Amino acid sequence: AINAFWYSLIPQAFFFVVATKLKLENDFENIKLSRTLEIEETETVSRLRQSKENTEQTRLLKVIEQERKVLGELRKSEARRTDEMRIAKDEADQANKAKSAFLAVVSHEIRTPMTGIMGMVRLLLDSNLTKEQKDYAQTVQDSSDAMLALLNDILDFEKIEQGKMAFENISFDLHRLINGVTTLMNGHAAQKNIGLKTKIGDNLPKYVYGDPTRLRQVLLNLTGNAVKFTTEGHVTLTAELMKEKTADGTCEIYFGVNDTGVGIPEDAQKDLFSPFSQADTSISRKFGGTGLGLAISKGLVQGMKSEINIRSKENEGSTFFFTINMPVGDSDSSGNKFIAPKKDVAINPLKIMVVDDNKINQKVIQGFLEKTPHTVTAIDSAQIAINRLEKEMFDLILMDIEMPDLKGDEATKHIRQSGNDKIKDIPIIALTGNTMPQDIEKYYAAGMNGFIAKPIDIDLLKSTINKAGQNVFDNPHAKVKEAPKGKKKSKTVFKGAEVKVTQSSKPTEKTDDVPHEQVLKDETLDTLKAHLKIKDIQDMLNDVIDKNDEIIKAMHDALAQNKTDDVSARAHEMKGMSGNFGLIELSDQAAKIETKAKTEPTLVLTGLLDPLAEMQKRAKKALNHWVDSNKD
Ligand code: ADP
Repeated sequence: AINAFWYSLIPQAFFFVVATKLKLENDFENIKLSRTLEIEETETVSRLRQSKENTEQTRLLKVIEQERKVLGELRKSEARRTDEMRIAKDEADQANKAKSAFLAVVSHEIRTPMTGIMGMVRLLLDSNLTKEQKDYAQTVQDSSDAMLALLNDILDFEKIEQGKMAFENISFDLHRLINGVTTLMNGHAAQKNIGLKTKIGDNLPKYVYGDPTRLRQVLLNLTGNAVKFTTEGHVTLTAELMKEKTADGTCEIYFGVNDTGVGIPEDAQKDLFSPFSQADTSISRKFGGTGLGLAISKGLVQGMKSEINIRSKENEGSTFFFTINMPVGDSDSSGNKFIAPKKDVAINPLKIMVVDDNKINQKVIQGFLEKTPHTVTAIDSAQIAINRLEKEMFDLILMDIEMPDLKGDEATKHIRQSGNDKIKDIPIIALTGNTMPQDIEKYYAAGMNGFIAKPIDIDLLKSTINKAGQNVFDNPHAKVKEAPKGKKKSKTVFKGAEVKVTQSSKPTEKTDDVPHEQVLKDETLDTLKAHLKIKDIQDMLNDVIDKNDEIIKAMHDALAQNKTDDVSARAHEMKGMSGNFGLIELSDQAAKIETKAKTEPTLVLTGLLDPLAEMQKRAKKALNHWVDSNKD
C-alpha cells in the first residue's frame, strides 16, 4: 500500500510536469500577445499622432498659403495704390505746371494789352473831354486799376504758394518806411475823415536789415484794410523795439496796425487769412476787395519767419500784429524804393529809343513822354534797333522782351558785346509783363539796367528815365560806367528853382488874425519832410498854391454860370489836395462848399466862396513860415 501510494504519485508528477509546461507555454503566449498588443497600440498611437500632425501640417500649410496669397494681394494693391498715387501726383504736378504756365501767360498776355488800355485812357483823360466823357474815361481807368491790382495779387499769391517769393536782405531806413506808409494812406484816411498816425518806439533802430518792399507791402495792406473798415475814429501804425540787440546784432521788432473800425467776429477770425475769404459775404459788395490781401500778407510775414496775429472785437476795432527779428543796419541801401514817386525833376533832354513790336505800346510811351523834353524814336524789332544803333546814338533804350525773332534780353546781350564802347554802354530798360524774380534775374544777367512792369505806370516810366539821366540804376551789375555820349552827368534842376513860396523874403510868424495852427497842420508837412527834400516839397507847395488859385477861379466861374455840380466837384478836389498838405483851413472850407453846393442857394455859396481868397493868402504865409523854419 505504501508503494502503491508512492507509485500513484508518478502519474501525478507526470500531470504536474505537463500542466506546468502547458501553463508556462500559455503564459509565454500571453506575454507575447500582450507585447504584440502593446506594440500595436503604440504603433496605432504613433500612427494616429502622425496623422494628426499631418493634418495640422496641411492646415498650417494651407494657412501659410492663404497668408501668402493675402500678402501677395496686399502687395499688389499697395503697388497699385502707389502707382495710382504717383499718377495722381504726376497729374497734380502737371496741373500745377499748367496753372503756373497759365498765370505766366495771363500775366504777360493781359499786361501787354493793359498797357494799351491804361496808357490810352491816361492820355485820353489828359485831353479835352466833356464832363461826361471824362466820367466814362475815369471809370475805365478805375476798372483797369482794379483789374491790375487783382492780377498783381493773384501773381503774388501764386509766387508765395510756389515758394518762389524771393526776399531781399538789405539795410534800410525803417522809420522812413513806416512814415512813408502813413503818408501814402493819409489822403485816403482824410477822405474818410478818420485819423491816421504812426507810433514809433523811442529806441526803435533807424536802420535794419530785411526786405523793405515786402514789409511795406504788408503794412500798406494792413493799414489799407484798417482805413477801409473804419468809419470813425482813428488808425495807428505802431513799430516798437521788443527785445534789445542780441549778441549777433538782431533785435525783435513789433509791428501793429490798430483801428477803431467794425471789428471781426471771433468765428470769422480764423479763416481770414485763407485766400478769397472775407468776414462776411456782403463785404466785397460794400467795401470791394477780393480777400487775397491778408493771405498774401500772411505768406509774406511767414517768409520773414513770423506769423501775423489778430486781436479784434466786433464793433470795437481790430489790431493786426507781428514781430520780426531784424539785424540792425547801418545805412539806407533800398534806393528809396518805398518813397512815393517824386515830382518830375527836369533833366537834360534824352534821346530815347523804344523797341516794341506792339504799335499800341509804342504809341502809349510816345504819348506819355510827349510833354517831356525827351525825344522818342519807336522801333519795331530788336534787329532793326541793333542796326539803327550802328548809325545813330541814343541815350536810353526802352526794350520790350517778348518780340518775335530776337527777344529783348538777347538783343541786349548783343548790344553789350558791341565793339563800340558808346553803344555797349547805353542804358537799357526792359519793358515786360513777366516780373517773376527769375525773369528779372535773366534781364539783369543779360546786362539790362532795370525794368518797368507792364502796364506801364507813367510815374515809374518818368522816374526811370530820370534815373537813367542821372546814371542811377537798379541793376547793380549793369555795365554802364559813364554818362552816355556828350552828356555831362546831368544835374537835377528843379523846376521851381525860383520857388515862389520862399520868395516872399521874411518869415511871417503869425498869419494875420487867424492862428497858424488853424491854417496849417505842420505835422503833415513834417511827415513829408521825412521822405522828400525840402526843395521838392517847396516845388509841390508851389503847385498846390497855383492849383488852388485855379480852382478858386473856376469855382467862381462855375457859380456865375449856376453850374453847382462843378462847384462841388472842384471843391472836392481842393479839399483832398489841401488836406494832403496840411492846409486845414482851406480844406475845411472846401469840404463845406462841396456839401453845400448842391443844396444851398447861390447867395450862400457866394458867401462861402468869398473868404477863399483870404484863406489862400494865409495859407501861403503859413507855408512860407513852415518852409523857412525847416530849411537846413
Ligand atoms: P479784402 O480786403 O480784399 O477783402 P483781405 O484779405 O485784406 O481782403 O481781408 C479779408 C477780410 O478780412 C476782409 O474782407 C474783412 O472782412 C476782414 N478784415 C481785414 N482787415 C480788417 C479790419 N482792419 N477790420 C475789419 N475787418 C477786416
